[in-house]
Amino acid sequence: MTGPKLGTLAVHAGEGETLAVPSTTTPVYQATTYRFDTAADAAAYLEAPEGRWLYSRLENPTVIAAERKIAALEGAEGAACFASGMAAMTAALQASLRAGDALLLCDTLYGQTTRLARDVLERFGVEIRPVPFEGLAAAVAAAPTNARALVFETPTNPTLRVADIPAVAAACRARSIRSVLDATFASPINLRALPMGVDLVVHSTTKFLNGHSDHLGGAVAGARSLLDGVLAMRRTTGGNMDAAAAYDLLRGMKTLEVRVLRQNDTALRVAQALEGHPRVEQVMYPFLASHADHALARRLLRGGGGVLSFTVRGGYEAVARVHDALGLVARASSLGGVESLASIPVISSHRNATDAELRAQGIGRGTLRVSVGLEDPEDLVEDLLQALERA
Ligand SMILES: *Cc1c(COP(=O)(O)O)cnc(C)c1O
Repeated sequence: MTGPKLGTLAVHAGEGETLAVPSTTTPVYQATTYRFDTAADAAAYLEAPEGRWLYSRLENPTVIAAERKIAALEGAEGAACFASGMAAMTAALQASLRAGDALLLCDTLYGQTTRLARDVLERFGVEIRPVPFEGLAAAVAAAPTNARALVFETPTNPTLRVADIPAVAAACRARSIRSVLDATFASPINLRALPMGVDLVVHSTTKFLNGHSDHLGGAVAGARSLLDGVLAMRRTTGGNMDAAAAYDLLRGMKTLEVRVLRQNDTALRVAQALEGHPRVEQVMYPFLASHADHALARRLLRGGGGVLSFTVRGGYEAVARVHDALGLVARASSLGGVESLASIPVISSHRNATDAELRAQGIGRGTLRVSVGLEDPEDLVEDLLQALERA
């Protein structure tokens, strides 16, 4: 017998063949590197990498498929996927700022984004300028001349505030300040911010986009010219999404609209059931008429989203009893999954906030945040009402 020996066959047999399989799903390309036929092909990559393959920190077909789906959902020229929402935010800001620039940091941000600015970017010479959510467009207009980027969120955590995105984006454009919006709580089903003038939209795909609490990832979407800088940053810093994670994201996104529309309906139903309850001081949900940004939310959002918050009378002790009495709703952080989750901001996202900061943001010691899943809405209402009996 001639031909390759067993060890060689073990390495090569069956690999890298182009199988024309009309699969309905995108395979997981579990490869770090790709073959070139010739030196001319390898050299051609350097001239025009588009449509060619070199190394998976640079490009991976499964990840690219997920990026194309996100770009399509956001109405973006492109998207870039990352290992986490924080890796996505990091690359978006690193690509937008250099030492000496000022970053406008909205005062209602995901805690880790604030830490990224204050503990990391500031050390590299970026000046951090806090700007208030209230009157954000005016604060942008009055920003110092070295302001180069703004980070803000809609809806915010945990009070579900909605920014006047077109006004804020226009104020940024007028000053050549790059607007970066974390739209994780909205998902592209409820909010498409790029057509409203925002420069870069960031998602933690860990939440609604994947939707099954089994994936950690992030994405940045925007115009090609801006995205190229974000991709260059990813090539160098290496916060890439893994191909297997991209598959989970692709699969999750297929049901994104069905899930989010149902979660919108359920969250509104739950919010209405809680509003006016004698043990509830306040319910925060953008599609309730009582919400501070109700008119704006109805104008900008397709739905109020899957997250609502409410403040129980009696402060922390009371909300802790409600929290501990939940049956169907799991006591867990995160959001956007098929199972309902509840967490108390003052012992999670806002554990370091002072009383003054809590009051300024409308968060109480008795506030509970609930992310509704796909359970029957009436079962969720029943669970929350029985838990409120313990307040
Ligand atoms: C979860 C979350 C993040 C961070 O995303 P990770 O995937 O956990 O890194 C950023 N922004 C918002 C609004 C989030 O909810």
